[in-house]
Formats: sequence, C-alpha cells, structure tokens
Amino acid sequence: MATSSDRSESSDEEMIGSGRTWILNAEVESVREEDAEREEEDDDDMDEDEAPNNQTSNAGVHEGNSSTSASREGSNIVITLTDPGLLDCPICFEPLTVPVFQCDQNGHIACSLCCTKINNKCPSCSGPIRSNRCRAIEKVLESSRTPCQNIKYGCNTPVTYNKKNEHEKACVFSPCACPYVGCNFVSSTNELYRHFSNGHLDSATGFLYDNVELDFSFPVTLNKSDSFLVVREKHRGTLFILHNSIEVLGNVVTVSCIKPSCLMEDFNYYLSVTNKESSLTFWSVTKSTPSLQVNGSPSRSFLLIPCEFFNSCGQVKIDVSIYKGV
Ligand SMILES: [Zn+2]
Ligand SMILES: [Zn+2]
Ligand SMILES: [Zn+2]
Ligand SMILES: [Zn+2]
Repeated sequence: MATSSDRSESSDEEMIGSGRTWILNAEVESVREEDAEREEEDDDDMDEDEAPNNQTSNAGVHEGNSSTSASREGSNIVITLTDPGLLDCPICFEPLTVPVFQCDQNGHIACSLCCTKINNKCPSCSGPIRSNRCRAIEKVLESSRTPCQNIKYGCNTPVTYNKKNEHEKACVFSPCACPYVGCNFVSSTNELYRHFSNGHLDSATGFLYDNVELDFSFPVTLNKSDSFLVVREKHRGTLFILHNSIEVLGNVVTVSCIKPSCLMEDFNYYLSVTNKESSLTFWSVTKSTPSLQVNGSPSRSFLLIPCEFFNSCGQVKIDVSIYKGV
C-alpha cells in the first residue's frame, strides 16, 4: 500500500511542472495539533519533519511531498495536484470524506458511502473492502485547505477538501442572480441586494417589515400575463419575487425570496384579492430561489386568482404582506 502511495506521489512530482489543476495546502500545524490531542502529549518541541514520524501512515505522504517541488509558505506546504480527481472517490466522484476505506489486496480507495453501495466489493479488482482504512489519505484530506468555490463572491473561508461539499451547500456566499430582465449580475445576496438598490430601484415595489401589528400590507398591480413582479424590502434590500402563471382556472401566484436555499431564514406572506362580490386571502411561507430560472419543485400551495378578479384591462390588485417568520 505504501508502495502504491509512493508511486502516485512520485508521478505527481514528475508532472508538477505542468500541473495547474488546484492547490492543496497541507497545514502541518493542524496535523500536529490533531496528533497532540490524540496522543495527549505536548509536541511544542517537534519540528515539521519530526511530527509525521509519529505515525507511520503519515510518513509516506510527507516523504512524497518533500521530494516534490512543492513550496513551503510559512507552516504550509503548497502542493499542486496534476490529477484533479485524486482526492475524489473513484466511484461516486465526490470529494472523499473520512473515513476512507481501501480494498484489502490492492489499496484501491472508496468513500464509506460507496463501500456500502457496492457491497464491500472493490469495483477495480473485485477484492473485498473490509475495515481497512486509508489513514494516509485521510490525513491528507484533513490537513488540506482549498478555497470555497464562492471565493469570487466573497467567501474567504478555506475548507478542508473532505468538507468542501458540505461547506459549499451551506455557504452564505452562494450566488444569486439579479431578477431585472436583461441584467446578468450574479453575486452573494448582500452584493446582489446592493446592486439592485443602486441600479434597478424603480423597477421594484418597496415595503417595510415594520408595522407588523398595523395594516402592513401593500398593494401591487399584477397584469394577467406578467410572469413575475419584484418586491423589495427597503431596510435590508431583500428581494422577493411574486411569481405568476396562467392556468386553466385562473392565475397561480406564489412569493419566493431571492437567496440561497441553504439560508434558513423564511418569511411568511399573505396575499389578498378582492372583487365586488368576494375576497380571497392566502397565507404561506416563502421558498428560496437563487434565480428566476431555478425555482426548484413547484409550490404545492399557491393563491389561485380566478379570471373574474381581473379587470377589463387584465389587471388585478393584490394586497401583499411579507414578514419574518416566528
Ligand atoms: Zn463514493
Ligand atoms: Zn481493489
Ligand atoms: Zn463558502
Ligand atoms: Zn441587475
């Protein structure tokens, strides 16, 4: 196993001149701290070369690193991996997560989820994958640092490679798209709200969350053929979309908030329409939508506005209330 690990490290070394896929920051300090916790001993006196020698599984990896042209930045070793899939599970192609298992005979690795799916039989050599963990790869994963994919939208949180997916699914900097027709601006919600306030303020109906005890609804005029209207909370600039679609019995209307789905903050909303004979009131909770195009699964609850509520010009006045959920 060590031989196979060493071989792959040295092949990286040979290719490193042309390597440019992504960079692994092997934080020696973090490995040392972890070792210290586990072994309950003070390693203040150790230098970087001594630390890995405490664990034989580390030794191969560190020898491999030190024999490459990897550069040292402070306590970090910056390594370029020429194979971008090296730290991904060869079965599901997702970043490997700890624990990493390997087949008994040839050391082929697989993530723990895949081991179960493949009935603990190695897809490469058909050998058994039992409880052999690949500690060396686990160490590399845990000590790696890679930027979040939303770094260009302001996320400066370096993540370990095995936590990359987990972080990015919940990253508050996940991009959202400007709902203004023809505008291609995409950024984190804060930047998007600022952009919209600076560039398209007049295109949205403004409202405040305040006055919640009072009659805090505000009117919007919806054309039968509008596909959406943008509504903007004035203090924070939070953007909401009133979606509208024409169905057989009338128009279907829902409200969503432009923000990444991972942000848990939801809003309640009321919609109310009235004609001479009757009124309809609808309450629900906003869904999150990062862009107008990505609505996810269609809402199962909605306000159905019958055709009779639209005036002769094809318009209806909707009283809207939006407030933070409790
Ligand atoms: Zn997998
Ligand atoms: Zn195998
Ligand atoms: Zn992030
Ligand atoms: Zn825009």
